[in-house]
Amino acid sequence: MTDSLFLKNVMHESVLRDAHVHLPEYGRYLRAPGLSHCYSLAECIQTVREASDGKRIDEWVILSGAHVERWPEKRLPEAVELDAAGRGRPVMVCSFELHTLACSTAALRAAGITADTSDPPAGTIVRRDGEPTGLLLESAGQLVRDVIPTRNDEEYRCDVERGLKAFYSYGVVELHEMTAQPRLLDALRSSSDDFLDKMKLVLYAPLDSLEEVRKKCREWGHPSVRFGGLKLFSDGTLNARTAYMLSHYGINIGEDNLPDGQSPRHRGRMLIDKDTMRRHFACAGREGFDVAVHALGDGAVRSVLDVYEESGGSPDKAGFVLRIEHAQFISEQDVSRFIDMRVIASLQPSHLLVDTQTMRRIYPQGIVRCFPLRDLIDAAYRSSVNPRDVLYIGSDAPVVDPDPADIYQAALYRKGKEMGDEEAVNRAQAITEDELLSLMKINGS
Ligand SMILES: [Zn+2]
Repeated sequence: MTDSLFLKNVMHESVLRDAHVHLPEYGRYLRAPGLSHCYSLAECIQTVREASDGKRIDEWVILSGAHVERWPEKRLPEAVELDAAGRGRPVMVCSFELHTLACSTAALRAAGITADTSDPPAGTIVRRDGEPTGLLLESAGQLVRDVIPTRNDEEYRCDVERGLKAFYSYGVVELHEMTAQPRLLDALRSSSDDFLDKMKLVLYAPLDSLEEVRKKCREWGHPSVRFGGLKLFSDGTLNARTAYMLSHYGINIGEDNLPDGQSPRHRGRMLIDKDTMRRHFACAGREGFDVAVHALGDGAVRSVLDVYEESGGSPDKAGFVLRIEHAQFISEQDVSRFIDMRVIASLQPSHLLVDTQTMRRIYPQGIVRCFPLRDLIDAAYRSSVNPRDVLYIGSDAPVVDPDPADIYQAALYRKGKEMGDEEAVNRAQAITEDELLSLMKINGS
C-alpha cells in the first residue's frame, strides 16, 4: 500500500473510477491466484502438478496469471510438458493478459484441435512441423474456452461480489466492465449485497452478447447499471507479440525454436478488417451505442482512428463515442487526432510496471511512445478540451492488480518503486498528481 498522503485520502473518499475492468474474472482471480506467484517454467509445471493431484483423470486443471516475461525461459509450457505435469488430464494454462493459452494434448483433443484444424480468422494455433504445440493465440483460445466447464451460478455470483468488494476497498466506485455477459446482470440482480447503492457499473459487451446485455440492462432499469456499448478487438498484446505495430518487433524475440510461419521480425497484425469495423461503427451510429475497441499497438491505434475518421470523425457525425482501449503505443502524429475527433484514449498506466522488461526486449523502439499521457493532456489543453473528456484511466484487472497506488506510481514516476531512475520508461510522459486525480475521480475535482 502506498505511503502517499494524496492517495490515502482519495481512497477513503470513495470517488475513483476504473475505466477498464473484467469484474467476474478479477473476482475469480482473487479466489484462486493461479500462476501469478511463479517465477519460472519449472514452478509453473510444479503448480500444474499440484493442482492435478486428487483430480479425476477427465477433470480439467485450469490455471491463469502466468507472467512468462519474468521467467528465464520466456515461454509457456507446451502440450507434452503439460501432459506429463497433469498426468494426461485436460490442462489449460493462461497468460496474465488472457490472450495466450497453453493446453495439454487432452485439452486440445476436447476442443477438437488437430493438425488439420485451420486457424480461426483472428487467432493462431501455433504449430511446429505442422503439429499443434499446445499454444493458442488470441481467438484460437476460444476453441478451448468453449469446452471448459464454466463456473456455476453461485460461484460466479460470489466472484462478482468479491471483485466489487475489492474495488470498493480501493476507493473505486465506478467500473467500466469490458466483457459484459448476460449472467453478470443476473448475478448483480440476485446479489443480496448492497454494492449498487454505492457503486456504478457501465457495461461494454462483445458482439455475441451485445443484444442480450443491452436488453437486460433496459429491462432491469437499475440506475447504477448502464449499458455502454460494443467491445471489439482490433489487435492482440505486446506479451503475445500479437499487437499490431507500425514497425517490426525487435530482433531478439523467440530466435530459438520459432513456430511455423513466424518470422523473427514481424509487426503483429490486425484481427479485424476495416470493412467489418466500418459496419460495426455504422450500426453503433444508427442504434446509438458507444464502441470500445481494443487497440494496443501504434499500428492498430492508427487503423481504428482512420476508420472513425471515415465514419464521420466526431461523436456528432458518427453518432457514437469511440473509445480506444489500451492504446499502449501512440505515434506522435496520432495524438492530436484523439483530441480533434473526441476519441477517448482509455489507458492503463500501471501496465508500465509489468511491461518494462518485455518492451525493452521485444519492442525497445516503442518505449518513447508508450502511454504518452503528457502528450495527450498537453494536446487537449492546446485545443481547450478538458483532458477528462478524452482520457480515461483504468487497470484492466485482473491483468494487473487494480490498486490505485500502482497507477499513481506508474503515471507520476513511470517506473516501479524498486527501480532506479535510469529504468524509468520515458519520464517525459509523466503527469502530475493533480492531473491524475482529475482523470481518476468520478467528478474530476
Ligand atoms: Zn481488458
